[in-house]
Amino acid sequence: MQDTQGTNLDPWYGHYAERTAGLSASEVRALFAVASRPEVVSLAGGMPYVSALPQQLIERAALRAATDRAAVALQYGSGQGVPRLREQILEVMALEGIHGSVDDVVVTTGSQHALELLAKLFLDPGDVIIAEGPSYVTAITVFRSFQGEVVHVPMDDQGMNPQALRETIERVRAAGKRIKFLYTIPSFQNPTGVTLSWERRVEILEIARTSGILVLEDNPYGLLHFEQAPPPAMRSIDSEGVVYLGTFSKTLAPGLRVGWAIAPHAIREKLVLANEAAVLSPSSFSQIVISEYLDTADWKGQISTFRDVYRERRDAMLGALSDYLPSMTWTRPAGGFYVWLTMPEHLDSKAMLPRAVKELVAYTPGTAFYADGDGRRNMRLSFCYPQPDFIREGIRRLSTVINGELAL
Ligand code: PMP
Repeated sequence: MQDTQGTNLDPWYGHYAERTAGLSASEVRALFAVASRPEVVSLAGGMPYVSALPQQLIERAALRAATDRAAVALQYGSGQGVPRLREQILEVMALEGIHGSVDDVVVTTGSQHALELLAKLFLDPGDVIIAEGPSYVTAITVFRSFQGEVVHVPMDDQGMNPQALRETIERVRAAGKRIKFLYTIPSFQNPTGVTLSWERRVEILEIARTSGILVLEDNPYGLLHFEQAPPPAMRSIDSEGVVYLGTFSKTLAPGLRVGWAIAPHAIREKLVLANEAAVLSPSSFSQIVISEYLDTADWKGQISTFRDVYRERRDAMLGALSDYLPSMTWTRPAGGFYVWLTMPEHLDSKAMLPRAVKELVAYTPGTAFYADGDGRRNMRLSFCYPQPDFIREGIRRLSTVINGELAL
């Protein structure tokens, strides 16, 4: 990866704050330019399939925001978010088992911005964030940009391993480091697609509580389940020790950039102050569009439509993997956007990527999802965006590349 600060073509080299050392272009981002060529089947990005959203639903909501609701939609708003939208967010949250007060909801500019605000509120240089290994690439980037150190805890097909978590906490503390939070994506995790079991949710919360560690529960995919719903959100079990992050990016549209945090009272107050300092108020226009949409459209029906679209694509990917790459191992997600592929030990997904792109298929190398260089034999395969037959063709091309490597 290129270190943009390392070039003396930049006349401001040497002026940047130390914390920008953690800001390097992610492997996912560097890929976008190549992978967006139409002849390439991209299994790399995590773009929701917004074409499944009927245009008139958004059109109607946007028109209302621009006319009848313009006085509010075009104006600055509350740093905590539009009150009516916060009530509606609680209706969405009830589907995840969360029942709270509108006072606890803070609207943010996507859940990505909530991650940034929480990192800003909690991290001093050298503080440790515990996260699943692997974990969401841009969360790792945010934590690093505040000079936090991400320490991974291994996971299996039931999610993060509680015993390994206990050992990690002990080890980090024995080394004299401060742990600021436990970051987890318990349902249909990015990048593995794995869901944390109910028993482990309870056990991990108990470990966090007794260790005095705040839990950051990031849940963009929980409502996109293909069979039964995942276990209830961790926040539904513990409202004092968990900050929950949600978003409309996957159940509606990421371009609106509206997400939210549900936080214990004192943290919520700080989050609102940080939100105001960063953006004054999140986009009133986007919030009103979403509020109108939730009031007038069959939003639960729309979520079912998204589930059907992604289920078909998940099935296409799993079927193609069985047909074309039977000797590899991979996860079988029950929701969300991603499959995590494991290759034999000696293969390197990052080194293989240029050859894959030559074969007109792209994926995200596993190393992107670790802070410590792990994940070489892994890759994340996204099934959210391409049509099922493209997914199948993409996996066929991938098998040519992998089988070519194996034959070397
Ligand atoms: N968390 C996770 C785990 C994600 O996968 C994403 C989007 N890829 C986000 C947060 C950010 O989503 P947004 O800012 O669009 O809400």
